[in-house]
Amino acid sequence: MAIHSREYKNWSADVHQKFSDKPIVMQMEITYQCPIRCLHCYSDCYNNKEYAKNELSTEEIKLIMDKIYAAGCMWFTFTGGDPMIRKDFIELYDYAKDKGFIVSVMTSLTALTDDILCKLSKKPPFSIEMTLNGVTRETYEKISQVKGSFDRAINGINSVIKAGLPIKVKTLISKNNQHEVEDISDYLEKLGLKFSPSTSIFARLNGDNEPCKYRLPVDDVLKYDFSEDDCELASSVDVDDKTRAYDGMDRVSGSFYRCAVGSWQWHINPIGRLNICSCVRDVDYDILNGNVLDGVKYLRDYVKNKKFSSAGRCGDCKLWHICGSCPGKAKLELGDECGAVDYFCELAKKKNVILNHYKSVIKE
Ligand code: SF4
Ligand code: SF4
Ligand code: SF4
Repeated sequence: MAIHSREYKNWSADVHQKFSDKPIVMQMEITYQCPIRCLHCYSDCYNNKEYAKNELSTEEIKLIMDKIYAAGCMWFTFTGGDPMIRKDFIELYDYAKDKGFIVSVMTSLTALTDDILCKLSKKPPFSIEMTLNGVTRETYEKISQVKGSFDRAINGINSVIKAGLPIKVKTLISKNNQHEVEDISDYLEKLGLKFSPSTSIFARLNGDNEPCKYRLPVDDVLKYDFSEDDCELASSVDVDDKTRAYDGMDRVSGSFYRCAVGSWQWHINPIGRLNICSCVRDVDYDILNGNVLDGVKYLRDYVKNKKFSSAGRCGDCKLWHICGSCPGKAKLELGDECGAVDYFCELAKKKNVILNHYKSVIKE
């Protein structure tokens, strides 16, 4: 029998297309607890012992894994908080791997232990994603607010690399580490890792706007966040017609959600609620006690039928395709999912100037 091998990305794209009506990708916050307290963290408001009491037990998380697997989930991401902080992380990781999920782990690596590393080495994940926001103790710990965390993060990266495990390192650029961006990039390059910057900061899940004050000034964001590739992508979007999102749902530019929510990717929070994404929390479904596909249908109908309640700026905006805001982020920051965040409006206008210039150069 001939066995054909295919590139992962082609196989993955085909699966996403073929099963776009199924919840094939799930990310699950198994806890909001984290050993560090990043100044910009959107879930830090629930990083406390009181909230931890509500979080799911080992058996409840396993039950959810069983249910989502039966509903067609193939990609499973452990996220948080920091999933490695849970005492049962190894058991849960083992369970997910043995079920057959393609498993990723989003972590600060500051709670990595020898036992966890040993388990990951024996049954490697598809990817480990961590965020490195400083390469000096001073900068890293100014952001993480925990003494000793810099050494743990750096040791974590080195251990994971030494074990030959797949790692992606991201960097969140804010006012707190802007001065160190080149050093972070150089450091990662020396380790053979790609520098992946982001400037996206939004309010906390409880509506606390504290993180927003660490955002870069709009002109600085443009240095990191609107490349020629972005211009090319943005140019291909017909703002009056279909959205850029491939999601199998027939949305037009007036749609409330203009991203891929409600299609193949879903989110589960630490108390077992299914959400359309990590920011939109006020509509959910109890999948611990309910049926996953019923939950998916309920939330999908919600996404489909959701409309702007008033003729707000976002509803009629022609810049939505280059805007970093969305109803989920607006709700967190303004308490109004139909609201326009001034910071993102200003950024979108400046991106539009760049985009128009790009288009005029391409035409010549
Ligand atoms: S590592 Fe992630 S979860 Fe932990 S405090 Fe930082 S942003 Fe929050
Ligand atoms: S936040 Fe501003 S730029 Fe973004 S979609 Fe709304 S009105 Fe448009
Ligand atoms: S945060 Fe906003 S853009 Fe991202 S998935 Fe949620 S609704 Fe869509």
